[in-house]
Amino acid sequence: MKNITVVGAGVMGKGIAYSCAVSGFEVYLNDINEEILEKAKKDIFTLLDNSFQKGFISEDQYQNAKKHLFFETDLEIAAKDADLVIEAVLEKMELKIDIFKKLDKICAPGTILATNTSTMSPTEIGAQTSRPDKVIAMHFFNPVHKMKLIEVIRGMETSDDTVSIVKEVGKKLKKETVEVNEFPGFITSRMNCLIGNEAMNMLMEGVASAEDIDKALKLGLNHPMGPLELADLVGLDTRLRNMEYLYKTLGEKYRPCPLLLKYVKAGRLGKKSGKGFYQY
Ligand code: NAD
Repeated sequence: MKNITVVGAGVMGKGIAYSCAVSGFEVYLNDINEEILEKAKKDIFTLLDNSFQKGFISEDQYQNAKKHLFFETDLEIAAKDADLVIEAVLEKMELKIDIFKKLDKICAPGTILATNTSTMSPTEIGAQTSRPDKVIAMHFFNPVHKMKLIEVIRGMETSDDTVSIVKEVGKKLKKETVEVNEFPGFITSRMNCLIGNEAMNMLMEGVASAEDIDKALKLGLNHPMGPLELADLVGLDTRLRNMEYLYKTLGEKYRPCPLLLKYVKAGRLGKKSGKGFYQY
């Protein structure tokens, strides 16, 4: 396992590419949008500089990462030599399936194809390829360089070999893994979406301010972040897509809070757009 391609250079893709590069992998980061790819490059190099200056990564890691990171809008060039592809595009099933079908044609038969989906079915994605045994979900957390966990989600046809190779990669990235049998929302998104949605409902009902809801969960329940600041970090558009999928698959208790819908319609997408439940 030497070459990793990351598809999608948004909030998650650039974090995954950074972590893979400082762990010694050769990394191609791909996005259809040239501007987003350019911004991802700038952000990754700034993070590399800061991490090196603060002593979080060694000189070797720093220099190697800079040498072994490539940015490419052409999926074929980006993925043709990959041993592992990690897809991190928008949380839309049709889009993910389209990309996996293309990857299935571009990549060697042994290449493992992983999705960073927060909620969706690797079984459904894998079934559209000729290699469902090599399709899996690797669910990273935001910000990737700080968060210790990868949820490894086994689809119905995912092989034991694929699971163990992906766990090995997790170890090389210095992450802990948990193994999950596929079910919508896995462990973390299923739990976190409910907490976040309830916090949004409370804000909408006027129970308390956003600041006080977050403060209560941090100081009273010992959460490291408040649910509303966390939703802002995730991106409210991404969170809404997660809620819509869980509502469709798990039912009423995941109905997205109307306030979330209103914020997304207004273009308040959280930290990435400068405004969400908080102003940035
Ligand atoms: P994002 O909107 O920040 O980035 C998505 C990127 O995909 C964009 O840059 C877009 O240009 C790119 N893209 C769209 N179509 C493409 C294509 N055909 N080929 C290549 N690139 C394409 O989204 P995100 O927050 O990084 O989320 C990505 C995935 O990760 C989603 O499945 C999401 O559920 C999951 N996830 C998100 C978080 C989070 O905190 N944001 C955490 C864990 C998992």
